Amino acid sequence: MAQTKLNDVTKVFTEDDGNEIVAVDEVSIDIDDGEFLVLVGPSGCGKSTTLRMVAGLESISSGEISLDDRVINDIPAKNRDIAMVFQSYALYPHMTVRENMSFGLEESTDMPDDEIDERVEETAEMMGIEELLDRKPGELSGGQQQRVALGRAIVRDPSVFLMDEPLSNLDAKLRAEMRTELQRLQEELDTTTVYVTHDQTEAMTMGDRVAILNDGTLQQVGTPLDCYHRPANLFVAGFVGEPSMNFIDTDLHSEADETILQADLFDYSISDEIATKVSDSSDPVLGIRPEDIGISEDPPSDKHDVAATIDVIEPMGDENIVYLQFDSEDSSREAESIIATIGGMRQFESGQTVTAHIPEDAIHLFHGETGEALHNRRLETAESQAPQL
Ligand code: ATP
Repeated sequence: MAQTKLNDVTKVFTEDDGNEIVAVDEVSIDIDDGEFLVLVGPSGCGKSTTLRMVAGLESISSGEISLDDRVINDIPAKNRDIAMVFQSYALYPHMTVRENMSFGLEESTDMPDDEIDERVEETAEMMGIEELLDRKPGELSGGQQQRVALGRAIVRDPSVFLMDEPLSNLDAKLRAEMRTELQRLQEELDTTTVYVTHDQTEAMTMGDRVAILNDGTLQQVGTPLDCYHRPANLFVAGFVGEPSMNFIDTDLHSEADETILQADLFDYSISDEIATKVSDSSDPVLGIRPEDIGISEDPPSDKHDVAATIDVIEPMGDENIVYLQFDSEDSSREAESIIATIGGMRQFESGQTVTAHIPEDAIHLFHGETGEALHNRRLETAESQAPQL
């Protein structure tokens, strides 16, 4: 176990023509002892490069990485007491599972052979692969190879596990099973783990905290639910959640007794409390999650109701994904679309006119230029319901 700190860590690659690529830009994260941190972001955002710098497989251009307050920038990978699991498994094809698992211990420690054997057997049992110990990787399924690769990392009992998309070669069902199993193992071993994925479902379900990267810069570090309900900016709000949060461009208009967000096709009135928070931006972006939009067949009756037409419905079984259009009376303006999710048993037809309700306590507002979150939705927490003293 070890506390792992990244302090302003930067990686600049220089291409053959002298062009510089900033792959990781001043990233700072404190990872607690025993924590499961997921690094997530779109392809090319710098996740693998960050992990490889922690592993010692890539040099650091500037900044510091430390394990338990000891700076490890210049310590070679093999002396860092870190074990890495790759997407490709990287097993030695000519060695048996037993040899693959014991190889690292034989190379990096002076542990006696019988102790190594004992540890390999114990770990194999923990991973449910004891029957496979004498097979070679070519004789194993993808899922079994993945277990061996994890077992090989676990047997070393390192201070930190680094995992780079370790489940992405598995089919969806096996991936879901391994997700749960990995979480259970990590809790049992209590070893600090940094896990890279581009899959936001993995990030949301596995991490104690997630660190969201975009274009080499850290956007937010927080618990999965924090990032979902209290995104720091537009990028995080759009990245976390499936289907994504809807974004509607607006202009802020203050009238005598009301503040209005004027979207292309409708006006949305906001309370004084929210208006104060957005006063820095003349063109805030209104965000609303699909599950927070209400749809009814009744005509609009509330100031947060908007008339809309159902464009397409995608039935998913448990829920329907509904594509709604706010229609314009002015034919030169394009209809604006948003996505809502509703219960799977509710029946609507495409082309049907409905009322979309956008509840004020579920809206998010972002700065029109910087994308920074100015207001996040209200949460029904025990704390918020407690009487205010
Ligand atoms: P993916 O999910 O696709 O693996 P990633 O988030 O892990 O992406 P990185 O592999 O860390 O992203 O790459 C970050 C950026 O650095 C990308 O723009 C990539 O092209 C660039 N990059 C990575 N390795 C090198 C290299 N050796 N030389 C030059 N540029 C590189």
